[in-house]
Amino acid sequence: MRPLRALIVEDSEDDAMLLLHELQRAGYKVTHAVVDTPYALRAELTNNTWDIIYSDFSMPQFSAFDALALVHNVGIDIPFIIVSGTIGEDRAVTAMKAGAHDYILKGNLKRLIPATERELREALVRKDNRRADATIHRLAYVDDVTGLPNRARFQELIEAAVQEAKKESRCIALLLMDIDRFKEVNDTLGHDRGDVLLKQVGLRLSGVLTSPDIIARIGGDEFGILLSSLGAVDEIHAIIKKLQDFLAPSFMIDGVPISVEASIGIAIMPNHAEDPHMLLQMADIAMYRAKRMASNYAIYEPKYNRYSPAQLGLMAELREGINKNQLRLHYQPKLELATGRVVGLEALVRWEHPRLGLLYPDKFILTAEQTGLVNPLTRWVLLEALRYCCQQYEQGIELKMNVNLSARSLHDPQLVGMVADALETTAAKPEYLVLEVTESAIVLDPVRAEETLMALSKLGVGLSIDDFGTGYTSLASIKRLPINEIKIDRSFILNMLTDNKDAMIVRSVIELGHNLGLTVVAEGIETQEVLDYLNGLACNEVQGYHICKPITPDQLRTWYAAAPWSIGNTEEDKS
Ligand SMILES: [Mg+2]
Repeated sequence: MRPLRALIVEDSEDDAMLLLHELQRAGYKVTHAVVDTPYALRAELTNNTWDIIYSDFSMPQFSAFDALALVHNVGIDIPFIIVSGTIGEDRAVTAMKAGAHDYILKGNLKRLIPATERELREALVRKDNRRADATIHRLAYVDDVTGLPNRARFQELIEAAVQEAKKESRCIALLLMDIDRFKEVNDTLGHDRGDVLLKQVGLRLSGVLTSPDIIARIGGDEFGILLSSLGAVDEIHAIIKKLQDFLAPSFMIDGVPISVEASIGIAIMPNHAEDPHMLLQMADIAMYRAKRMASNYAIYEPKYNRYSPAQLGLMAELREGINKNQLRLHYQPKLELATGRVVGLEALVRWEHPRLGLLYPDKFILTAEQTGLVNPLTRWVLLEALRYCCQQYEQGIELKMNVNLSARSLHDPQLVGMVADALETTAAKPEYLVLEVTESAIVLDPVRAEETLMALSKLGVGLSIDDFGTGYTSLASIKRLPINEIKIDRSFILNMLTDNKDAMIVRSVIELGHNLGLTVVAEGIETQEVLDYLNGLACNEVQGYHICKPITPDQLRTWYAAAPWSIGNTEEDKS
C-alpha cells in the first residue's frame, strides 16, 4: 500500500467517499481530510502536509477557483485535480489556466488514478528542479569561504545602488581592495589557513561598515566595498583611514600573528563614471595604481587610464598577426561516455607570435575586444575550424566542431551574418557547428543574448553554455534559450572526488541539464577515476587531459590512430 495524503475540497460526503474508495482500490493507503470552506482549507494547508488536492468545482460556500487562489496565496506547489460533474469545456480550460493540473468527471473516475500518478510524479520533478535551482543560485551568489556576496552578486548590487543613487542625485563610492602579498600567506601557511585569514579579513571589514554599505569577496584576495551614500567626496579619506585602522592589528592564524596590508582603489559616481561597469573598471585601474605606487590607496584619476606599452604593442601586432597567418587552431577531442566514441572537437585559438612564441587566448582576446579586432578574429576562427571540420567529414571522420564566442562577439550585431557566411563559404552543414558562449556573456545583456541565440539557432547550429556554474544563469532563463548543451566548468570537476559540495553541484547540474533535455559535458577530466564517476552520474560527454589535451591537426591524426576510443561515426572498432 502506497501512502497518500489527500486533501479533499468537497461538500458532498458521498462524493468524497467514492473518491477515497477509488484511491484505496488502486492500492493507496490514504490519509485524508475533507473541507468545504476557505477557512478550513487554509487551516489544513498551513497545519499539515499534503501530497495532492482533489476539489469539487462549485460548492455552496466555496469553489475550485477560490481554492486554487488560496493554495497559490499560501505559496505551495501541490497537484490540484478538479473532480466534478460536467462544467463545460470553457470553464474547464479556464480552471486549467488558473493552475489546476487536471479535470476529472465524477461520473467517470477511470482517469483518476493515472492522473493522480502522473501529477505526483510531475510534482516530484518540479521539487527536484527547485532544489537544483536553489543550489545553483547559492553557488552563484555567495562566496564559499567568507559567506559574503561574490562577484556576480556584487555586480548586481552595484547596479541597483547606481540606479538608486542617480534617482536621488547621491554620490556613491566603490572601493576595490587587494590584500598585499596574500600569495605568500597561502604558499607558506597553506590554502586552508589562507582561507581562514580571508574569512577574518571579511569579518573585520564588515565591522567597519553599516547598512546599506556592502562588502563582497570578488576574487582570490580581492574584496569590494560599496558605500551607497557618500555625503561629500572628502569623506572617503576618513573611511579609508578607518578601514586601515581595523586591518592594522595582526590576525592570529593558528597562533601565528600575520599582519595584513591592502591596496585600495576608489572610484566615485558621478565624478568618475556614470554606469556600474565603468565604475568597476575605474576602481580597478585605481587599485592597480595603488599597488604599483606601493601606496595604500588611490582615488581614480583619468591619467591612470592608459594601456601599458606592452599592451599597446600587442594591439598593433594582432591585426598583422591575423593577416600574416600567425594564428593557429588547436583541437581538443570530446568523448561520449555511453558509447566510448569521440564525437566532437573544440577549436582553441593560439597565436604564434614571432617574438613571444605561442600565445594563449587569455593573452590577446581582451586586446582584440578592446581594439575592434574581435570580428576579424572570430571570422578567422570560424572559417578555419569549419574548413578543417569539412575536410575531416570528407575523410569519413564525422566530428562536430565546437567554437568559442567571446562576450563581445555574442553582442555584436554582425555575428549572425558572420556565422551564416562562414557556413556558406566552407559549405559546412550547420549541424557540424556548435557555438559556445559563457554564462557571463549572457548575463551581460540577457535580452540581446536571447535574440542573438534565437537567430543562431534558426541557422541550425548547436548552442552550448560554457563554464556553466561560474556565473548566474537562472533555470528559467536557460529554459527559454535555444540551448543544446551545457559544459560544467572544470573548477567543479577537479575537486569533485574529494569535495562533497562540488560533487553535489556536478550531480545537480547533470540532473538539471537532463531535465531540460540538454547534453551535459564535463570539462577538466584528468583521471580515469573522475571519468568513471561521471559515467556513473550519466554525464553525456567529457573533455580533458585524461582524454587528450588540445593539439594540432597533425598530432590529432597520430592520436586518432592510437586512441582506445572509436573516432566519429567510423565503424571500425579499435578496442
Ligand atoms: Mg569552451
